[in-house]
Amino acid sequence: MRSAVVVGAGIGGLSVAGALARSGWQVTLLERADRVRPEPTAVVLWPNGVRALRALGLGAGLEAIATPLSDGGVRRPDGQWLVQPRPVPADRMPVVVHREDLHDALIAGLGDRVELRTGVTVRTVRAEPGQRPAVGDGRNLIEADLVVAADGTDSEIRRRLAPEAAVVSSGSAAWRAVIPWYRAPRLPVDRPVGGEVLGAGYRFISASLGERGSSGGSSRGGIYWVATAAGAPRPEPPETQLALLRRWYAGWPSPIGELLEATDPADLVQQEVRELRPLPRAYGFPAGPGGVVLLGDAAHAMPPHLGQGACLAFEDAATLAALLPKSRLPDAVQAYDRLRRPRAATVVRQTRRMSAVLQTRGRLALRARDAALGTFTPRLLNTAATSAAQWRPPA
Ligand SMILES: Cc1cc2nc3c(=O)[nH]c(=O)nc-3n(C[C@H](O)[C@H](O)[C@H](O)COP(=O)(O)OP(=O)(O)OC[C@H]3O[C@@H](n4cnc5c(N)ncnc54)[C@H](O)[C@@H]3O)c2cc1C
Repeated sequence: MRSAVVVGAGIGGLSVAGALARSGWQVTLLERADRVRPEPTAVVLWPNGVRALRALGLGAGLEAIATPLSDGGVRRPDGQWLVQPRPVPADRMPVVVHREDLHDALIAGLGDRVELRTGVTVRTVRAEPGQRPAVGDGRNLIEADLVVAADGTDSEIRRRLAPEAAVVSSGSAAWRAVIPWYRAPRLPVDRPVGGEVLGAGYRFISASLGERGSSGGSSRGGIYWVATAAGAPRPEPPETQLALLRRWYAGWPSPIGELLEATDPADLVQQEVRELRPLPRAYGFPAGPGGVVLLGDAAHAMPPHLGQGACLAFEDAATLAALLPKSRLPDAVQAYDRLRRPRAATVVRQTRRMSAVLQTRGRLALRARDAALGTFTPRLLNTAATSAAQWRPPA
């Protein structure tokens, strides 16, 4: 039986560990935290992410927890439309899922064939010709035919195998929260919960997770919002961060004020937005009978402006799972590299264009941006949506 060690039990590690186990691999999943726990926020999955999850055999569970995300358009802070809402064809419709629901589905997908070891921090990796790939935590060396580095943005394995890829700040911080339905504001029927507002260096997006009082949709329903602001993360306690957010977004169109008012400091998840610059030169490192691959944020951490990080992690997992049965393991490792690097580079390029739009500051630049936004943003979002809708796992 072929064996794999997956390092990191985030979205990427859980999805690939389950896929390998379901196709008969013996899988050890190593996680440095004492418990495998998701963030209490949500994630938008574009059609590529959904298709990848389906390819991984996790589509059925997804339907029960996903809420379709209709296009709510993009407004300016003064309420004027930058991009009018448009009907979205079904095959381009993203969905929004509570991360805890997604996590439960991924854990259920592990079955009983994955050995999960928590409290293990991987510090070393061996990827040399003639030797079995291995990882070590400073005390034990764990060998396997395949090592999957799904250890996130600060990946220790990537640091050793692709040291050229540096983690840098994108110059902004993000705050997210899910307000459960019982605390969510009641908005007039003609005022949608979902939508996007874009200002100089600031952005606010909100979406419904399931419907109030409905048993369908997410089992952990509510209103999800994500706010991005230029600058560093705030060192103050969540109460002060929330007060700052209320000040920054004061006067922005409804329902932003109502949502921030209904948010509890305990709901708030703050994160520095970081990315890999440059991307690693390789995602696959053949070694011995198999090799090491980089997956998820370990391979291509990017700002969340197009909501593609988790989707790409699922694409990575689905691609690897499709390639492994087809060829010798070192060849599959190289094929993974060949398929995934250009794909990640394309999405990162689109994301950086979006970063440039979001970071425009200064009145003249802003006016130029607003003028350009009406044509440029729809085109950019359309290209990103097309590339998301067109992705297919390898046949
Ligand atoms: C504000 C924000 C909003 C986002 N919104 C979206 C969205 O809407 N749609 C979307 O697709 N993506 C979104 N993303 C991106 C998405 O969250 C990430 O791309 C995704 O969670 C990455 O998953 P991962 O498993 O690769 O990494 P992680 O989730 O970081 O998991 C890595 C795991 O490895 C463990 N680990 C780390 N080092 C070690 C070690 N040395 N040994 C053992 N274990 C280790 C960690 O503890 C962790 O559990 C967003 C990101 C942000 C910041």
